[in-house]
Amino acid sequence: MANVELVDVTKIYDDAQGTETAVDSVSISVADGEFLTIVGPSGCGKSTTLRMLAGLEPVTEGSILIDGREVQHLVPSERNVAMVFQNFALYTKMTARENIGYGLKHSTRLSRPERQERIAEMAELLGIHDHLDDKPAELSGGQKQRVALGRALVREPDVFLLDEPLSNLDAKLRSEMRTELQRIHDQLGVTTIYVTHDQKEAMTMSDRIAVMNDGRLQQIATAESAYDRPANQFVGTFLGNPAMNTATVTIERHDETAKLRTDGGTVLTTVPTQALPSGVSEATVGIRPEDVELRPDPNGSASVAVTEFQGNTNYVHLTLDDQSLTARLTTNQTFDRDERVALEIDAPDLYLFDTATGETLKTRDRATHAATR
Ligand code: ADP
Ligand code: MG
Repeated sequence: MANVELVDVTKIYDDAQGTETAVDSVSISVADGEFLTIVGPSGCGKSTTLRMLAGLEPVTEGSILIDGREVQHLVPSERNVAMVFQNFALYTKMTARENIGYGLKHSTRLSRPERQERIAEMAELLGIHDHLDDKPAELSGGQKQRVALGRALVREPDVFLLDEPLSNLDAKLRSEMRTELQRIHDQLGVTTIYVTHDQKEAMTMSDRIAVMNDGRLQQIATAESAYDRPANQFVGTFLGNPAMNTATVTIERHDETAKLRTDGGTVLTTVPTQALPSGVSEATVGIRPEDVELRPDPNGSASVAVTEFQGNTNYVHLTLDDQSLTARLTTNQTFDRDERVALEIDAPDLYLFDTATGETLKTRDRATHAATR
């Protein structure tokens, strides 16, 4: 086990296609034993970051430290890091036991009985002890995945790296393996860095998430705090499904109250002036679907476009001016298509972002919200 530090790490690919800054001055500290997930859209630099950590890709600038030791110049085998990829390949002619033990044989000086003991322990932990004599063709997708995990973990790496390891599994198995990975992490306590483009996966699995976009680190925080207090509009809209509603508004202040007016001229909500940051007259407002409340009102500002009833949740998609908005209702409240509704959006629930830079000007405030309900 070990802590990991990326310090101003930059990767510039310079090849036939031209120059591309895949990772731009990223700094991340991962605590000993932590489970950190790097999340962001495809192409944002997640795999490149992980590959630099593993030593599969040289860094262009910056340093990587494992337990305080600079490793960016070391070859992979000198870093004691293990990595599992999405498209892992098992040796088809070898049994599960031989697959798991393969790395051990070549990278350690353990005796044969010692190796067999470690393999047995790992198989027990992964729940595949009954399949050790099976070849990959005889194993299910989930079992193959476990063998791949076992092969990486049996070497007792200081750092465990996973690059979208569950992407090829079906939804049910993926959710099972998520729980499984957390259990394994809890049991072994190995410092783990997990990469996914799936924000839901990131939020459910990790101690902290590191959100990346366009090669840059946007925010590193617990899932709850990044969701409630995103550093910028990108993080706010990337986390959460359905996504946060956004609209550019002008803020009209009248002493005690302020109106947030959309570009289409509709008043989205009227809030106490003091709830808004001072000096802001234009911004992008963000409202999470769970914070939009609806009231039937023939003169309401929005109309119901589509409703998606899902038993315990009712997603109502609205049209306001020419914009779409989603409300997530947990009640039995139902609405008809084309029905007119008034929106109730409370000041503590509003996010505001600088329209030009995306920087957060105001986050939602759960504490105030609870107190005013
Ligand atoms: P992610 O894993 O987040 O999808 P990657 O780290 O794979 O993103 O890629 C980041 C960026 O670097 C992308 O724009 C990608 O096209 C580019 N890239 C990745 N690998 C190479 C390479 N070997 N040569 C040139 N560009 C690359
Ligand atoms: Mg990738």
